Amino acid sequence: MSDHSNASEVVIVGGGIYGTSLAYQLALAGKTVTLLEAGEIAGGASGGPGERGVRANGRDLRELPVCAIAQGLWATYQQTFEGGVGYRRLGGLQVYDVSYGHREHEVLGRMAANAAAQSMLGTPSEVLTRDQALAREPELSPAIVGAIYCPNDGVGDHTFATRQFAKEAAKAGAIIRTGAKVSEIVHTKSTATGVKLESGEIVPVGDRLVIVANAGAEALLKPVLKPHELGPIWNLMPQMLYVSNPLNKTINHLLSHAHRRLAVKQVPDGTLMLSGGAHVAYTPEGLWKGSLSAMTQNVTDAVQTFPFIDNSTFLKADASRVETVSVDHIPLIGQAEGLANMIYGYGWSGHGFAISLGFTKLFAEWIQTGVKPEALDPFSPMRFHRPAEILAAAPLGRVAA
Ligand SMILES: Cc1cc2nc3c(=O)[nH]c(=O)nc-3n(C[C@H](O)[C@H](O)[C@H](O)COP(=O)(O)OP(=O)(O)OC[C@H]3O[C@@H](n4cnc5c(N)ncnc54)[C@H](O)[C@@H]3O)c2cc1C
Repeated sequence: MSDHSNASEVVIVGGGIYGTSLAYQLALAGKTVTLLEAGEIAGGASGGPGERGVRANGRDLRELPVCAIAQGLWATYQQTFEGGVGYRRLGGLQVYDVSYGHREHEVLGRMAANAAAQSMLGTPSEVLTRDQALAREPELSPAIVGAIYCPNDGVGDHTFATRQFAKEAAKAGAIIRTGAKVSEIVHTKSTATGVKLESGEIVPVGDRLVIVANAGAEALLKPVLKPHELGPIWNLMPQMLYVSNPLNKTINHLLSHAHRRLAVKQVPDGTLMLSGGAHVAYTPEGLWKGSLSAMTQNVTDAVQTFPFIDNSTFLKADASRVETVSVDHIPLIGQAEGLANMIYGYGWSGHGFAISLGFTKLFAEWIQTGVKPEALDPFSPMRFHRPAEILAAAPLGRVAA
């Protein structure tokens, strides 16, 4: 039996950027909060070497309004937290070239349309010609056609930020427990009453249970969600490649590419970090296996975009962090149908760091008011089921057409 006399109002499972930033916001708002983390804070996808892109440029349009909230908050916390959150607003460039089978006018049209849509959805975006892009980023290959520039994009030291939120949450009164792996959600017919730890201890839940355990979420949720509430998801392990910068060149922006699987960041010591779509093999035990082909693809795309990188030497590859991905690359955020006081969010699909503060602000609002913010509607797992209902209700002629 769980002892409810000392239950925290909100129990959060997962000590990544989602769990820690939510714990901070709720504790600051006066809620009693316990955060349970299986390992250490930032031991999952929110930790590891280098920096993460804090990027709205090129993002799924459904995420942009939330991303705009997040980018404002990154700037605010960088100023208001003692020591900041490791956030640098460098501006972002998404580079375009004419890929095989396309025409320059299509590429230019796509750039203009994307920039207009992004601006309308809260991400100021400007189309740059080739010369304008080269003026901002002189080391770019002159073969590019142009770029979309987003002044609010930047980078963040994810490990530092996650630890800073945990520290500030604790200062605001949250209980942060590490080495506390949850094995099971304890519940009555309609309410989550506690969580059971691997040690056998039951941590009671006061009002709300929040599961933001990323790659650990599905195992906890499966026994309590109805089959249609579970989304089509899988795990991947993105590879980060680090190369030297022997010519001491500077890359001024967070750089991504519209057609190549490439992201380039220059970390504060000058080293170049290459990523953006090369993954390694995943096993459920968390072991990983790198591959020459993943590195080759990444380096080739980097050299095509920044020719000077051909002078670099290999420093290291890191692919030790697991991330859960959803089939349409936007997250699954819901409230369990059977357990009305439990909410969950996962499936950030490889770009969840940048947008995290926007989502956790909305989670905090939801928990405080009891009303789910409309901005979260596009992320409901029901999006995979509603089309069937709509088709069933539609007149036959229209379906056939
Ligand atoms: C290599 C890599 C590069 C990335 N690059 C970018 C980028 O450039 N820009 C961007 O925006 N995003 C990026 N992402 C994605 C981003 O880092 C993640 O979406 C984000 O960190 C997820 O945060 P989280 O808090 O949900 O998960 P996590 O940080 O994984 O935290 C979940 C925590 O839950 C804990 N946990 C799991 N199961 C249990 C359990 N049963 N009981 C208790 N605790 C449990 C885990 O130990 C873990 O610490 C990248 C991800 C990776 C892996």
